[in-house]
Amino acid sequence: MAISHTQVRSSALYDRVRRVIPAIEWPVFADDVEAILDLKRQRNAVILAHNYQTPEIFHCVADIVGDSLALARKAISTEADVIVLAGVHFMAETAKLLNPQRTVLVPDLQAGCSLADSITAADIRLLRQRYPGVPVVTYVNTSAQVKAVSDICCTSGNAKAIVESLGVPRVIMLPDEYLAQNIAAQTDVEIIAWKGHCEVHERFTPADIRQLREDHPGVTVLAHPECPPEVVAEADFSGSTAAMSDYVGRQKPPRVVLMTECSMSDNVAVEHPEVEFIRPCNLCPHMKRITLANIRAALEQNQHVVTIDADIAGPARLAVERMLAV
Ligand code: SF4
Repeated sequence: MAISHTQVRSSALYDRVRRVIPAIEWPVFADDVEAILDLKRQRNAVILAHNYQTPEIFHCVADIVGDSLALARKAISTEADVIVLAGVHFMAETAKLLNPQRTVLVPDLQAGCSLADSITAADIRLLRQRYPGVPVVTYVNTSAQVKAVSDICCTSGNAKAIVESLGVPRVIMLPDEYLAQNIAAQTDVEIIAWKGHCEVHERFTPADIRQLREDHPGVTVLAHPECPPEVVAEADFSGSTAAMSDYVGRQKPPRVVLMTECSMSDNVAVEHPEVEFIRPCNLCPHMKRITLANIRAALEQNQHVVTIDADIAGPARLAVERMLAV
């Protein structure tokens, strides 16, 4: 029996993820992957996927992958009519801010974020009253309303550069308390923090790292800066998801553990078969709301369209664009 073009394509796609998806599971994904690739062509759509998306999304249907900063930067240059954001809601809003003329879809409206939920625009207004004249640096993990009352955005990849770019002795940096503390340890700028936490990264402890070193001698420990400072202090390296991925590619440690969301290790492992990945697993329940099935439904039914009121979009876009200009 002749092998069809579709079977050849499916087999080539499976080759990308065979290290992290057992062959017996591939048929569960294959139909949706094929349908999504066809829908993207029909609708002139691109899929932007965050590093925490599962490998069948990240490696098989995504056009652009990366951390929040990379997705924001690359979202500007797309020529597509439709952008599907395989990630959480604030990321889809950022893509919409930078692409006001394009249709931006988020496959699940409930895909939120504990950091984004930890602060409101009213909180920032109160902080400004308490610290008059102190600029507000806002992590991209926030709603458009919060960005709209901020001076400039940052990501975990550029936070230090952004804080120092302002040329002031003191900034308010929110909402991630641990990111703010970790950046404060690297700069002379005084940082006023907020009490928000990432529900995934706050669960890692220094004891986890000590146990990992005992169980896996020689392991290199990389920690995301949303982890508590005492975790970062015990790690061998700390950086954004993009920085962790670069570190593995550059240093090729024989054995590594990424103190971050589970899927990140799977996605980086696909690129580095020579590196052994130890996987302590903390899942982000919000990222995991995105599936092949709801990406397919998003493209088929044009759902859920991201909209931002013009009075919010203007100042929020400015805060993101100021970040991208640094
Ligand atoms: S991993 Fe943390 S910061 Fe990222 S979306 Fe999930 S809750 Fe938010």
